[in-house]
Amino acid sequence: MSSKAGTSVIYPKLAVIGCGLIGSSIVRAARAAGVVDEVTVADASPEHRQRIAELGYADLVTADPAEAVQGADLVVLATPVLAMSGAFAQAAAAMKPGATVTDVGSVKAAIAEALKPLIPENIFLVPGHPIAGTEYSGPEAGFAELFQNRWTILTPLARDDDPYLEAVQRLVDFWRALGANVDRMDVTHHDLVLAVTSHLPHLIAYNIVGTAADLEAVTQAEVMKYSAGGFRDFTRIASSDPTMWRDIFLANKDAVLEILGRFTEDLQALSRAIRWGEGDKLFDLFTRTRAIRRGIIAAGQESPEANFGRDHRAAP
Ligand code: NAP
Repeated sequence: MSSKAGTSVIYPKLAVIGCGLIGSSIVRAARAAGVVDEVTVADASPEHRQRIAELGYADLVTADPAEAVQGADLVVLATPVLAMSGAFAQAAAAMKPGATVTDVGSVKAAIAEALKPLIPENIFLVPGHPIAGTEYSGPEAGFAELFQNRWTILTPLARDDDPYLEAVQRLVDFWRALGANVDRMDVTHHDLVLAVTSHLPHLIAYNIVGTAADLEAVTQAEVMKYSAGGFRDFTRIASSDPTMWRDIFLANKDAVLEILGRFTEDLQALSRAIRWGEGDKLFDLFTRTRAIRRGIIAAGQESPEANFGRDHRAAP
């Protein structure tokens, strides 16, 4: 397959290891933008490999990461977080000198620490995280518009030599061509920000749906029948992939526990305000939170404006 006429190729050959929702969206978006010529994919799942082959967006589909990365200019690791270093270990020695490897993992410090010792000398590691996604998984769930007007955070290594800076810039150009806005961040700060904006909300969703399921005084049938908007939204978030989210909480333990501590204190304060009838405190908080919601909409990061009719949410 060749690139779109009139567009310039950024990476002649793209290899994606782990081609589910995010990996397949990158492939589709890169094809649509005409910034790659050739795409190879490695995935551990035989069913997913068969589906990817049927969907026809890759030139080669294999179980072997080393086969997929041969000759690739950009390698994207898009497996669950805790599978990344194992998958890359199989591929590292087969990479083309001068190529770049990036990842899309929702946690950055743990992945960077696991990958750094595996990176051959002449390969550029530029970790990243697209803040875009849905609660669906697998190669069929992906779509080319997923990254449009969403943010991708890159967390480059502390290197300032020209070849590395050029590799970072090329990856910035790639993400922009896929429609994303790009920010750079330190890994620790990334993990704290995402603990607040994504990981804790998912933990709360998993917990509240679990609590409702365990209540003895309210039947499961009642939970489903009377599920109001708020609870329904939580069930959507709590339907996200169990493997992916197990890995995220294990890999971002410190930041999640720190934010969870703050959250628990604030929840205690809310509980006290309800107990003592402190309506002003509740009203003030609800007014502040409404302003935050309006800010998200104003920034174009709410789904209806950005999701092309699909069911997006703030991604992990
Ligand atoms: P996904 O749809 O489940 O896709 C992951 C794919 O990788 C699956 O096909 C999986 O196969 C395969 N895989 C697992 N272990 C592998 C290995 N060792 N070697 C090769 N392939 C392997 O997951 P996703 O939602 O795309 O998420 C992928 C990554 O993106 C995660 O690190 C996640 O943190 C990050 N991310 C996700 C979102 C989101 O909203 N989903 C947003 C931003 C970033 P099996 O299904 O058989 O395991």
